[in-house]
Amino acid sequence: MLKLIQQHIEEVFKIKKVDLAIIGAGPVGTFAAHFAHLHGLNTILFDSLSELGGQPQMLYPFKQITDIPAFGTIKAHDLIQRLTANLENETEIVTNHKVENIVKNADGFTIDDSVFARSIIIATGAGAFKPKELPLKMNDDIKKRVHYFIKDPKKIANQTIGVFGGGDSALDLALELANYADIKLIHRRDQFRGLESNVQKLKSLKNVEILTPYLPKDIQLIDNKLDISLKEMGDTQLRHEQFDQIVVAYGFRANNRFVKKWGIDLKGTNIPVDRAMKTNIDGIYAAGDVVSYSGRVPLIALGFGEAQIAITSIMRNLFPEKTLTIHSTSI
Ligand SMILES: Cc1cc2nc3c(=O)[nH]c(=O)nc-3n(C[C@H](O)[C@H](O)[C@H](O)COP(=O)(O)OP(=O)(O)OC[C@H]3O[C@@H](n4cnc5c(N)ncnc54)[C@H](O)[C@@H]3O)c2cc1C
Repeated sequence: MLKLIQQHIEEVFKIKKVDLAIIGAGPVGTFAAHFAHLHGLNTILFDSLSELGGQPQMLYPFKQITDIPAFGTIKAHDLIQRLTANLENETEIVTNHKVENIVKNADGFTIDDSVFARSIIIATGAGAFKPKELPLKMNDDIKKRVHYFIKDPKKIANQTIGVFGGGDSALDLALELANYADIKLIHRRDQFRGLESNVQKLKSLKNVEILTPYLPKDIQLIDNKLDISLKEMGDTQLRHEQFDQIVVAYGFRANNRFVKKWGIDLKGTNIPVDRAMKTNIDGIYAAGDVVSYSGRVPLIALGFGEAQIAITSIMRNLFPEKTLTIHSTSI
């Protein structure tokens, strides 16, 4: 009876049916989608952001990653390009969609009243993140020149760019943008929280000026330039600096607490899983930075392996009659 009602609801509301829904399209979710495709799973991949790639794409696109097996070194943005190059032919991708509701029913789960999935992988990493904004009043014309991500640095070539922040992301960003533009790096402390070697590199560049310890107090658009008042910490004096654009690298806010309302147990802000990457709910698995178990470290390569374990567990669960092929050569 329950099954009939469910079928009726699906027909009336045209709910899409899939074997697997992956929530989160960071490196782990995108690789999981590819691996699911290799196993022939009909999959849908959600991300709350407008583009794929999670932390590497949003937080450190220009960093050279040196601990991905088989790549001596690879720029974070290039890694994401490789992970996603053919993905739209392998899986349905839904961006700009933060998954809010998951309801368990007879044979699976209804996601946000629009998708029925027989199984789910949660790969939400640190959570649906939002940039910490510049805490200044800004009109729309000013906002157009204030960025939280820079996808294509060539677009700001030969301009004067202010980079605000003092962590690794701010330093990476300033170094990369210095290849194209004049940079002023503004931080509220004299000490940076990032790699000292990057601070030294920046100090050695002629087109980079480091301004510390300054706090932005006001922003105006004057004569087609952003005019920002900077207050020296511990002083009342204001200094004015002009920029064509600014990039704010104050970090991101994120958390995974929303999974609690789906009935998922949390340990702190992470999801405990067993060795099959299963959560406390049958049919819901998790992989990547979102998971917690003793000894876990937040590394991309580890998340790739977890995705493979989760997909293999899902195959065993959904198709117990099948002899599972493990290696891609025989899938
Ligand atoms: C500065 C920095 C440098 C790093 N350097 C390295 C390194 O050199 N090597 C390395 O291995 N690791 C590095 N890491 C760690 C690495 O980035 C993470 O381990 C990796 O990003 C985890 O991938 P993930 O796919 O699990 O999660 P994430 O990359 O966090 O992606 C999760 C995705 O889920 C989405 N999402 C969240 N909630 C929802 C929702 N409700 N609905 C829809 N979508 C949702 C988010 O928008 C995001 O796109 C670094 C991290 C940082 C911050």
